[in-house]
Amino acid sequence: MYTFYIKTYGCQMNERDSESLSALLQAEGHQEVALEEAAQVLIFNTCSVREQAERKVIGKVGILKRLKARKPAVKLGIIGCMGQRLGEKLFEILPHLDFVVGTDQLAKVPKIFDELEQGKTHLTALSTGGEIVQELDKHLGKNMLAYISVMRGCDQFCTYCIVPHTRGREKSRTIEAITAEVREQVERGSKEILLLGQNITAYGVAEARKAGQYSPEFSAFADLLQALHEIPGLLRIRFTSPHVRYMNQKFIETVCKLPKVCKAFHIPLQSGCNRILAAMNRGYTVEEYLACIENIRNLAPQANFSTDIIVGFPGETRAEFEQTRHVMQQVQYDMAYIFRYSEREGTRAAQTLLDEIPEEEKMVRNQVLLNDLTVSVEQRNKAYLGRSVEVLVEGKSKRNTERWTGRSDLNKVCIFPPLEKIVPGQLCLIQISRTTTNSLFGKIIEISQPQNCSDCSLGEK
Ligand code: SAM
Ligand code: SF4
Repeated sequence: MYTFYIKTYGCQMNERDSESLSALLQAEGHQEVALEEAAQVLIFNTCSVREQAERKVIGKVGILKRLKARKPAVKLGIIGCMGQRLGEKLFEILPHLDFVVGTDQLAKVPKIFDELEQGKTHLTALSTGGEIVQELDKHLGKNMLAYISVMRGCDQFCTYCIVPHTRGREKSRTIEAITAEVREQVERGSKEILLLGQNITAYGVAEARKAGQYSPEFSAFADLLQALHEIPGLLRIRFTSPHVRYMNQKFIETVCKLPKVCKAFHIPLQSGCNRILAAMNRGYTVEEYLACIENIRNLAPQANFSTDIIVGFPGETRAEFEQTRHVMQQVQYDMAYIFRYSEREGTRAAQTLLDEIPEEEKMVRNQVLLNDLTVSVEQRNKAYLGRSVEVLVEGKSKRNTERWTGRSDLNKVCIFPPLEKIVPGQLCLIQISRTTTNSLFGKIIEISQPQNCSDCSLGEK
């Protein structure tokens, strides 16, 4: 039996993969440790979305060559997107690496551990396209917020993106399997779930297409939300990332009408220019994107939005960048991840377009958007002054342990002094007296019962 440590890079899906792998290994008798130095096996769960993310892992595992020289019994493994993308090539770059496992083969890691114990090395499990296995449904302990993977892969093939190449084709779990996993987590104490899928509004679409049951009105994701909404004790449902192409009327009406579905929507835009969106193969226009936002705002006026943007996509002119800036100002996002385009080998953009925008120019565009965002978020947060917000209490703030923290359903971080009777997982009303770009500050004025929608109280109390 081994002690192991998992270091996770990248997205929430990777965090969930690490958690399920850890639960699986622990069920087999291995033990997770909190410190790298205490582990016999070090596992790196990697991200390939940008080149920088891959360089970080190569650098980190490269340094560990010295550790292996000192302690040859220590084993090193790379799993996840980078493992899938580079496979056995990783043994050429990092000869001291012991195993590489791809995104679809995490359930094979216990078997790899057995082989390591037999003294084998340079082990791989890289095949793709298998069924989603139940062994990976397990969670660690009780988390107030549970991450739930509802599907794997992506069929969108945005021209810049490596994900369809590393995570394979879209495959959705059944509503029954997901509901059972969520019920179990809620029984263990989870109050909130974050549903995960690269293209989550396409949940069930590949299967429906195969069965000849797909139509523009189809939204199995809306059906899934409806089913999860019935689970007693579950207070909040979030999801990421929806894609405008599959956000039809059924989906929009469902998310707006179900009280437990938080009205903070992360809807990646990527670019505010139709020519760039087409070159990215995003599958929607700016007008369709904005219509979708308007549609949601009409049904849920309190809704707020966050997004992903890429600056410096090949050929993006200054004027086209300004169009993105303009759309961001129109939508008034509450948060945005802004990325500089990173060429990824094997993607259509890398094969057909020249990454000719200088890095300095990408950095300037990135900074311009961040500055705009700071100004607008600061203003939007000021609207909370004097108002009360319902917060799901998370516990002590990491920065100042005398304060506690929680989130509103609109995903605003609230900081407040605790009361004796408050425990994590409780809902309470916070009166807001100070705001910054990142947080709202205030005091507890009421310990509340679950209500329909927290920030709906904005302006009403
Ligand atoms: N599936 C989600 C969607 O389509 O919106 C996003 C998943 S992707 C892992 C997260 C974000 O990384 C994307 O929304 C995009 O903004 C960014 N991204 C992906 N490939 C990139 C690249 N080659 N260069 C820069 N950013 C990239
Ligand atoms: Fe990548 Fe596009 Fe799929 Fe998102 S939808 S994971 S950006 S290919």
